[in-house]
Amino acid sequence: MTEMADVVIIGSGIVGSSVAYHLAEKGCSRVLVIEREAHQGKGSTGKSMGGVRAQFATSVNIRMSLYSIDFFSRFDEVVGHPADYRAHGYLFCATSERHLEYLKTNRERQIALGLKNVELVSREDIAQFVPQLRVDDVVGGTFCPTDGFVDPHSVMMGFMLKARERGVRLWLDTEVTGIKVEPSLEGRLTFARTARVTGVLTSRGFISTRLVVNAAGPWAAEVARMAGADLPVEPLRRQLVPTEPFEKLPKRFPMVIDMSTGFHFRREGKGILLAWNDPEETPGFKEDFDPTFVEKILTHAASRVPCLADAEVNPRRAWAGLYEITPDHHAIIGPAPNVEGLYFVNGFSGHGVMHSPASGRITADLILDGHSDLIEASQLSVKRFGEGRMLEETAVL
Ligand SMILES: Cc1cc2nc3c(=O)[nH]c(=O)nc-3n(C[C@H](O)[C@H](O)[C@H](O)COP(=O)(O)OP(=O)(O)OC[C@H]3O[C@@H](n4cnc5c(N)ncnc54)[C@H](O)[C@@H]3O)c2cc1C
Repeated sequence: MTEMADVVIIGSGIVGSSVAYHLAEKGCSRVLVIEREAHQGKGSTGKSMGGVRAQFATSVNIRMSLYSIDFFSRFDEVVGHPADYRAHGYLFCATSERHLEYLKTNRERQIALGLKNVELVSREDIAQFVPQLRVDDVVGGTFCPTDGFVDPHSVMMGFMLKARERGVRLWLDTEVTGIKVEPSLEGRLTFARTARVTGVLTSRGFISTRLVVNAAGPWAAEVARMAGADLPVEPLRRQLVPTEPFEKLPKRFPMVIDMSTGFHFRREGKGILLAWNDPEETPGFKEDFDPTFVEKILTHAASRVPCLADAEVNPRRAWAGLYEITPDHHAIIGPAPNVEGLYFVNGFSGHGVMHSPASGRITADLILDGHSDLIEASQLSVKRFGEGRMLEETAVL
């Protein structure tokens, strides 16, 4: 007998799991999630830093964060599983008037959209958060106390466990190798090159379905190509370096972002987790940690927090993962233009964990209702790239 599903979701990371959860919550549970790995979380989700913030530059990202952070704050109660949301805040530190003006402009937009608690802070305020920070060149910053961290693996598991309770199926160890399409009715009538989805080919056989959600993270462009669709999502390596236990910094402090270099850090257990976006990194499926990165990041760390020069680092505990980058650093959510029944929820450009609640909800709304009242979803359509409607997000970490 041919396997059938109302919706097939390709990828069981935090985004695919959230889509499954939101579909099931809306009453659509004949859903099959397909994951090629033997366990969930082997893609970008398991590599993430777990940061969540509403301090963004564009309205669409701010709105998605507001929905998502509120969701995280109620996650345990609503989903019945811990999200480990810690509202420790994000502290942006500006060292130039240009950066400070940028933070002020963003703050006005954030407040107008309902983020009431984002504060302008002075150099002295910043020094109180982390007294060990070098602040001689800092001109000010912003702090939002409801920004913070979650446990990405736990959020992903919570979404999937609840979805499965509602009847969603998950096939692990199963690779999607093709998406079957046939000419759509519109295509047949107009001779346009449009197709519609009829099923998915996998290492466990064929599944008949009219709806496929591409939640394949950094591999999303390959999956789109299986249906003959173009998707401008590229993998870009990001590397994180944890220190050994380090007591010279406070036990609790916000995520601190040094805007002069992009270096940022937060506490992770007894140690400190160091992050920096290497501008020399080039796109590609590079998932190995490069040991030469340790020296580069420690130089930035010690320049902003001199006592971090004493931190011990074991490069074998550092790791690399892939961001899924789009040309305007915003997600792509919504139907594929020329393939009826194919939906994208991809290209989070470093924000897929924090925006997972909103992206799952928007995708489920679009599939089941054709629109979402959370945001004007056409802004995130892949069509924007062909129509010159790019959304530039400059607050990318
Ligand atoms: C170092 C690092 C730090 C980060 N820090 C943050 C942060 O602080 N905050 C934040 O919000 N985001 C952060 N991100 C980004 C975030 O992790 C991602 O945006 C998010 O995890 C994407 O989730 P996903 O479910 O779309 O993708 P993934 O977790 O990659 O899941 C995709 C799944 O699809 C499966 N798959 C792919 N192709 C196929 C196929 N053909 N058949 C079957 N299965 C397939 C893969 O095996 C994978 O499990 C970070 C990323 C990295 C690398």
